Amino acid sequence: MYDPKSLKAEEFIDHQEVLDSLAWADAHKDDKETIQAVLDKARLHKGLSHREASLLLACDDPDVNEQIYKLAKEIKQAYYGNRIVLFAPLYLSNYCVNGCVYCPYHYKNKHIPRIKLTQEQIAKEVTALQDMGHKRLAIETGEDPVNNPIEYILDSIKTIYSVKHKNGAIRRVNVNIAATTVENYRKLKEAGIGTYILFQETYHKESYEQLHPTGPKHNYAYHTEAMDRAMEGGIDDVGLGVLFGLELYRYEFAALLMHAEHLEAVHGVGPHTISFPRIKHADDIDPNAFDNSISDEIFLKIIACARVAVPYTGMIISTREGADVRAKALELGISQISGASRTSVGGYCEPERDDSSAQFDVSDKRTLDEVICWLMKLGFVPSFCTACYREGRTGDRFMSLCKSNQILNCCHPNALMTLKEFLEDYASPVTKLIGNELIKREIPTIPNEKIRAFVEKNLAKIEQGERDFRI
Ligand code: SAM
Repeated sequence: MYDPKSLKAEEFIDHQEVLDSLAWADAHKDDKETIQAVLDKARLHKGLSHREASLLLACDDPDVNEQIYKLAKEIKQAYYGNRIVLFAPLYLSNYCVNGCVYCPYHYKNKHIPRIKLTQEQIAKEVTALQDMGHKRLAIETGEDPVNNPIEYILDSIKTIYSVKHKNGAIRRVNVNIAATTVENYRKLKEAGIGTYILFQETYHKESYEQLHPTGPKHNYAYHTEAMDRAMEGGIDDVGLGVLFGLELYRYEFAALLMHAEHLEAVHGVGPHTISFPRIKHADDIDPNAFDNSISDEIFLKIIACARVAVPYTGMIISTREGADVRAKALELGISQISGASRTSVGGYCEPERDDSSAQFDVSDKRTLDEVICWLMKLGFVPSFCTACYREGRTGDRFMSLCKSNQILNCCHPNALMTLKEFLEDYASPVTKLIGNELIKREIPTIPNEKIRAFVEKNLAKIEQGERDFRI
């Protein structure tokens, strides 16, 4: 029976509730009155339920779609402004004991080189990432209790935070590792991680079990209940995601929102982020073998409907997508992107190597400087800010900042100061020129006079070589 407050996966992601929601959406998708009522509710910028958002996703009236896109842009602007946060993935090890059929790290794949970085190699990767200008990483590993135990992850986090090269620093390490125990989540929390990210892959239990035929990841309930254990272990910020292409997108969308509602109902705070990956070609993985792939148009509509449904949640898109789709997705609600990513283990130091240890092919292959310049030309303010979690603004404290529209007095100044650091330390002359102009234009938009003066003073200090200012 459906119960968002239950701690049992099959009750908070109740299969029948997903099916009933989709049936309700189908039954009302041409009913103008119901659609109008949902759009009116969405205009309050307070979000929608999984059923209501599923109705918008099901609706194929071009006028309604236009209204959804307009609303998504409006909501993005209201809560996130024009800032886009940058990060990079760091693959530590591709040893894996699971049999996920869409991932080239599956244990039966005998021809990819298995690599596990030593702490010295991690320090070199981090140095290379710092030299690009990155401040925020997401670490990634396969699941292998022998090769990648929690102690290895904890040591790696310590190494990453300890590397201080020139003016570089990694100030936030997010972690994307397999579902684990409350005790291990507590250790991750103590190690100072930012967000714990775990993609559900698919919420459809039967498909999940077929797509994960062997290994610990086969256990649907253990995987689906991971975020509850993470929160029990003290991690406030968790990141959800579905790997689009595995199952029917409308099913995944409704269930993803049910998961968000469950976290809110049980822990009083929804997901910090939702990622939107689509399945890609990789080594022995052919994306065409999965028959639920979605078009760019549907993908963008999913993003817009999610923005409307969960206004306060950060939304992430990776370099799995090319520049065109990323540009459209940014308009419709994405607030974080990766840049200059390597998806192979050790790929930042040895980019020339045959990429057969890559987890998936990257579509956006531009350098970080190119991505930053492109974002600014599109009218966005690239941000390397990591202030919130360093100031203890996690979980519901971050959400209340977002809900009270304090972003212009807090996140926006931090974005400008961290962008300035990038321009001083890593940017090409053109990017630096465009960036400095942009900062000049953006300063007057900081509403609070004292904060404006604080930022101006610090921008001058950054030019003189000082670093790491934040509000
Ligand atoms: N191994 C960890 C786990 O079990 O959750 C997570 C790390 S994995 C390196 C990161 C994510 O990459 C996976 O959760 C999956 O959604 C995604 N992924 C795997 N194969 C992919 C493919 N062929 N194309 C796109 N994304 C893929």
